[in-house]
Amino acid sequence: MKGDVEREYLSPDLNLLRMFRLYKENNPASTAKFWLYRDIFKQQNLSFGQPRSDTCAKCDALFSKLVATTTDGERLKITAKSELHHRKAEKAYTQLQAETEWAKANDDCHVICIDMQGVVYTPNLAHSNVYYQRQLANYNLCIQEMGTDKPPTMCLWHEGIAHRGSIEVASCLLKWAETSFAPLVQAKERKLIIYSDRCCGQNNNWRVLNLMALLVSRGYFSQIEQKFMVSGHSFLPCDRSFATLDKRRKVSTLHTPAMSPR
Ligand SMILES: [Zn+2]
Repeated sequence: MKGDVEREYLSPDLNLLRMFRLYKENNPASTAKFWLYRDIFKQQNLSFGQPRSDTCAKCDALFSKLVATTTDGERLKITAKSELHHRKAEKAYTQLQAETEWAKANDDCHVICIDMQGVVYTPNLAHSNVYYQRQLANYNLCIQEMGTDKPPTMCLWHEGIAHRGSIEVASCLLKWAETSFAPLVQAKERKLIIYSDRCCGQNNNWRVLNLMALLVSRGYFSQIEQKFMVSGHSFLPCDRSFATLDKRRKVSTLHTPAMSPR
């Protein structure tokens, strides 16, 4: 996989020692020592794992401009822009917190955070051939209801079943709503607020909007609001659940998608 124009990334299941063992397996006549292999590896501009994807391009651009600027006036302008950007990001978190408290106090109000986990490849075996072969991509959409003790709903599927776009996000939300709520009766009210990142391919699009209209027309909710975190500053409770899954995955062997840690 390629994170930027220069650096390339190897499977997160690999490490330098494992790479060295694989090299020895494939080249039994080699007398190269680990320290030499490590030194050559360091010159290759390679990393393990995935490129950072949740950094904010705006923060980076403003920082670069700030470093390059030579006038005080320009410096003040950039600092003000940066402060405004961070204040917006902070406001989104504060609002999520406030609405979580509000949902705790009101049974007819529900706040959810949704997020897609990074692709999980199976099988994650340590056999040398695995690193030279195409693996199966698995997708996971997390739906976390805020202000409740309910565990997050993990919607797991693999690339043989579906892609990971707006249709799949809308389908997961529909399934979650149908299994979590009964349609309202006698003009009762139930409000839903959905928090997510601003990704157009998954959350911020007309298909998800249509899904919200469908849920209201079928009577699952009387009102739905969709709110987005500031791009690049969208750490949601789902990310904590993903971190737990990643830890479990590193110490487990997944032969099939069905064996994914839960
Ligand atoms: Zn930023």
